[in-house]
Amino acid sequence: MSIVIRNGRVIDPASSTDALADVLIVDGRIAAIGPNLSAPGGAETFNAGGMIVAPGFIDMHVHLREPGYEHAESIESGSRAAAAGGFTSICCMPNTKPVNDSVTVTSYIVERARQKAVVNVFPIGAITKGSAGEEIAAIGGMKAAGAVAISDDGLPVMNARVMRRAMEFARSYDLPIIQHCEDLTLSAGGDMHEGAQSVRWGLRGIPAASEDVMVARDLLLAQLTGARYHVAHISTANAVAMVAFARRQGLAVTCEVTPHHFALSDEEMHPYDSNYKMKPPLRGASHREAMVYGLTRGTISAIATDHAPHPGSEKMQEFERCPFGIIGLETAVALTLEYLVAPGRITLNRMVELFTTGPESVMRLGRGTLAVGAPGDVTVFSTDVEWTYDVNQSASRSRNSPFHERKFRGGPMAAIVNGEMRWKR
Ligand SMILES: [Zn+2]
Repeated sequence: MSIVIRNGRVIDPASSTDALADVLIVDGRIAAIGPNLSAPGGAETFNAGGMIVAPGFIDMHVHLREPGYEHAESIESGSRAAAAGGFTSICCMPNTKPVNDSVTVTSYIVERARQKAVVNVFPIGAITKGSAGEEIAAIGGMKAAGAVAISDDGLPVMNARVMRRAMEFARSYDLPIIQHCEDLTLSAGGDMHEGAQSVRWGLRGIPAASEDVMVARDLLLAQLTGARYHVAHISTANAVAMVAFARRQGLAVTCEVTPHHFALSDEEMHPYDSNYKMKPPLRGASHREAMVYGLTRGTISAIATDHAPHPGSEKMQEFERCPFGIIGLETAVALTLEYLVAPGRITLNRMVELFTTGPESVMRLGRGTLAVGAPGDVTVFSTDVEWTYDVNQSASRSRNSPFHERKFRGGPMAAIVNGEMRWKR
């Protein structure tokens, strides 16, 4: 069982590699990197001429909806969408039904992924039972069963005392704790970012301060407890500035941004189109610019999609009634190339970091490098392939994307997972 990827530009930030080379994978692991490698007989060949060959991309924030909401997504369909987006590893949030707050559910996801998933799936356990924000969940048991982090994503942990205790548990189990930063008392009833646009359309606003006050509180608790604390889907200028400050103080604090938050602002929203409704909402243009700045400066460690499938029946309602969230696995790489790399805001090397060593530094999956002996996860992408995203062809079970029929230049070309070709364009 071997694959050789020939003639690509190999970019592996973990080993400071940027060179034209072949990559050989044997028995699921990286066996060699170098020019003109000789491959074992029967090896599959992928010609990556003109393409970038990188460690397998990691999406540390995905909603797979299984168990409980399989009409929206399943572990199998979500993993196929991931592969088609160039991702080889994904971490799935616990807001399933039942919530992944126990060994039973974590074990179910691990086993189901082993049978059905085409990429590596790493479950994230809940912080509190039922993500209700009151009682701490069975963190130690979930970790033993395969959970790689804890989060109540979809909801914040509102109670500061509970959050403090959770951080102490996270620290003692050496797990990152991921917060969906939203003060519900400030955001309640809001449907989009609070600003000129929400006033114009007569929609209730979600103020930037609802994110900022939660980030501020949590950074103080992270200082108190020493926990590894991660802000999910950061979206405001103040939140990025506070994370940068905390990092300069030496705290183990990280954050991620979604492609839609660095690509779009509320000015690009289509009025009342629920494919632009998500939490946090698309912010004003100055916040969007702050996301790009955070990516260039190194404050933001990872690009994560917050892939949030919802079936058409739920998204095709009045704007106020629609659930929050959009799918994003298949468009993330192309949006990063279009909005960050092509305009020269970040280099290709930095882009690969944001999808590999960055999320790896938070989640510690033992991936994100092409070092010899590492798992044979490889993402191949192109900076010039021209393609059009047709959401109706998506591997996801849901269709809620604002990027339907968008023409892209650049995108994923192949995803190889543990030495097996799982998707190619
Ligand atoms: Zn969230």
